[in-house]
Amino acid sequence: AKEAGRNNLQVFDAEMAAKAHQKLLRHEELRDAVTREEFVLHYQPQMNLKTGRIFAAESLLRWQHPERGMISPGEFIPLAEETGLIVPIGDWVLNEACRQNKAWQDAGLPPIVVSVNVSARQFKERNWVARVAEVLEETGLEPRFLELELTESLIMQDVGTAVATMHELEALGVHLAIDDFGTGYSSLSALKSFPVRRLKIDRSFVQDIPRDADDMAITGAIISLAQKLQMQVIAEGVETQEQVDFLRASGCDDIQGYFISRPVGAAAFVALLAG
Ligand code: C2E
Ligand code: CA
Ligand code: CA
Ligand code: CA
Repeated sequence: AKEAGRNNLQVFDAEMAAKAHQKLLRHEELRDAVTREEFVLHYQPQMNLKTGRIFAAESLLRWQHPERGMISPGEFIPLAEETGLIVPIGDWVLNEACRQNKAWQDAGLPPIVVSVNVSARQFKERNWVARVAEVLEETGLEPRFLELELTESLIMQDVGTAVATMHELEALGVHLAIDDFGTGYSSLSALKSFPVRRLKIDRSFVQDIPRDADDMAITGAIISLAQKLQMQVIAEGVETQEQVDFLRASGCDDIQGYFISRPVGAAAFVALLAG
């Protein structure tokens, strides 16, 4: 038994070392990906439930790996956050989303808002607000066509500073949304002081509608909360007609999800927008 225990320990050590090594390799790979700009943005449309029009898109990052193909953000964003690489990556995303949106407008497509996911590391960078202003200036995109998605947990890490930064961003004229709403801990009294235009109801509350009565109650409550605070509200992860029906009946403004479209490349998105 003792022998087996020691062997287990050795296996464990070897496994840990292998994992650490793999992580180091991944880190280097990701660093190279930044310099080689191996990233691409996909766009997922957002539709207004009253008009049926696509009025916005969320930009979602993908890593086009030379050998491994398209890698989804869930697989590399955690490492990017841990290593700080999310800062240059996030900067690339912001610039690319603004550049692309301006290019669509210049091509005569109906103007839309493009939203960008912001990580806590990025948000806390000194001069980040100035950087946002600079990107808007350089790309020529009007601020009202950019929305920044902040998660509740990002804001709650340091509410005072976050709210101050949010006011600076709002003063620039960009819009703010709270992502994954309902999964974090933002107190309702704090929410009142956030200069945000929209709440995004997290997919976890939407996915089991209409099977789960609790989720329907929570979703309904978030929608009325948003209405009372004069915020717009969008549900993410909408996949079925039944979900659309429930959300419409509950007064939800907008929806995003596979029911409308999966996130698609820029060219395919243009077809959605034009069609
Ligand atoms: P998120 O911000 O909550 O984005 C929504 C995720 O749900 C996306 O996954 C999207 O593809 C997926 N989704 C959309 N509609 C549906 C649906 O109807 N059903 C299902 N099952 N899923 C749906 P994705 O693209 O894999 O992104 C995952 C997460 O990675 C994002 O979650 C966001 O937290 C992060 N992320 C993506 N792009 C960026 C970025 O540019 N910067 C940062 N910091 N994070 C990003
Ligand atoms: Ca998001
Ligand atoms: Ca989300
Ligand atoms: Ca989510």
